[in-house]
Amino acid sequence: MTDGFTEEQIAFKEMVHRFVESEIPKAWARELEKDEDHYPFALWDKFTQGGFHGIGIDEEFGGQGGDIIFQMILARELARSLGGLAWIWGITSFAGVKSIGLYGTPEQKQRYLPKIAAGELRAAIAFTEPSGGTDLLGGMRTTAVRADGGWRINGEKIWSSSAHVADYLLLIARTDKNVTKSYEGVSLFWVPTASKGVTITPLPKLGMRSMGSCSIHLDDVFVSDDLLLGEADKCWRMLLPTLNNERIMVSAFCLGVIDGVLEDALDYAKQRKAFGRTIGEFQAIQHKIADMRIAQYQVETMMFDCARKMQRGVVSNIETTALKIVASELANAVADSGIQVLGGMGYSAETDMQRYWRDSRLWRIGPITNEMARNSIAEMLGLPRSF
Ligand SMILES: Cc1cc2nc3c(=O)[nH]c(=O)nc-3n(C[C@H](O)[C@H](O)[C@H](O)COP(=O)(O)OP(=O)(O)OC[C@H]3O[C@@H](n4cnc5c(N)ncnc54)[C@H](O)[C@@H]3O)c2cc1C
Repeated sequence: MTDGFTEEQIAFKEMVHRFVESEIPKAWARELEKDEDHYPFALWDKFTQGGFHGIGIDEEFGGQGGDIIFQMILARELARSLGGLAWIWGITSFAGVKSIGLYGTPEQKQRYLPKIAAGELRAAIAFTEPSGGTDLLGGMRTTAVRADGGWRINGEKIWSSSAHVADYLLLIARTDKNVTKSYEGVSLFWVPTASKGVTITPLPKLGMRSMGSCSIHLDDVFVSDDLLLGEADKCWRMLLPTLNNERIMVSAFCLGVIDGVLEDALDYAKQRKAFGRTIGEFQAIQHKIADMRIAQYQVETMMFDCARKMQRGVVSNIETTALKIVASELANAVADSGIQVLGGMGYSAETDMQRYWRDSRLWRIGPITNEMARNSIAEMLGLPRSF
């Protein structure tokens, strides 16, 4: 779909599509994903080669510029081949580009954004804790206490993706316990992973295995004052406006997965034979493929609607939350159906369906679970908070 795109956006989409086809094909993504013990630095370098780390960063800081539509195009095209490994671009884009770009001081922007744009700095998000993902604020045990010239951080984080290879962690910690609301007294830090007292351990998991998602132990980690992002104690309200962006971007990854599944299922259905005919001649297979195209249309339409409204500043939280739910559930259902179309080969590590299924399964859980997302829609409709 390029309806409503500018010429520049169409050219960008075509460029990324060609780049992914030649430099990041599905077969390579399949190989990269398997290797739990090695982070795919070569893939990171491909993103640098394509100039993708600079998308969303202003030209004055060495970036390529690019609004939500450009970011969405990139996320979708990457995920079509990479599935969840597209996060390897997305994490630094979220953690670095958006946080520093939105809340950084002029000095912080000057110091970090050019390095991110050049692919010289990797960041990871360290929000979730063992005691709370959905109840992030209520479960937060990590504290940062004022010290001479900075802060001392103690606590545990979990599931921080790519933290083991990151240069910085975008980390939230409680800086004031004497508050009446749990969203008060929380601050945002940009923590160098090389700091004394930081221990990072990758965790085995279902999908995106080579990306690595990690537990982090913080033992009296000192961070200087210039590593605080935004105002102390007030980061939660500051972060809220970025949620709409995050939900749209996750949906773009989901849409990329739907694209990848649809093209592989269609291709297989036209070649694989049973009972002397191609399986694509059977109505049961045709309906599955038709449903994939319907899902693609649904997510595409909702996603562009949200993105364009966001550009005009009129998107509602209900719309972006609904989009995240629909996109993640359809992507995972489509990938499941893709496995069925390929039969045994869909379950094989030699094809991509199993990878798309494993990766898209996560997006029903993170960055917000679909149960919590539904809670929040109900609440926005005026129903009482159920928790
Ligand atoms: C592979 C992977 C990568 C991740 N990457 C990152 C990362 O880079 N950085 C980061 O900070 N985090 C990351 N996360 C964490 C992710 O955001 C959390 O897993 C997610 O927010 C859910 O939190 P939880 O796992 O603690 O589940 P819990 O909060 O324990 O929830 C368990 C279940 O209870 C349900 N539940 C809880 N409360 C309610 C309620 N009020 N109403 C209805 N149902 C409820 C949930 O929906 C869920 O089904 C990642 C997670 C995974 C698995």
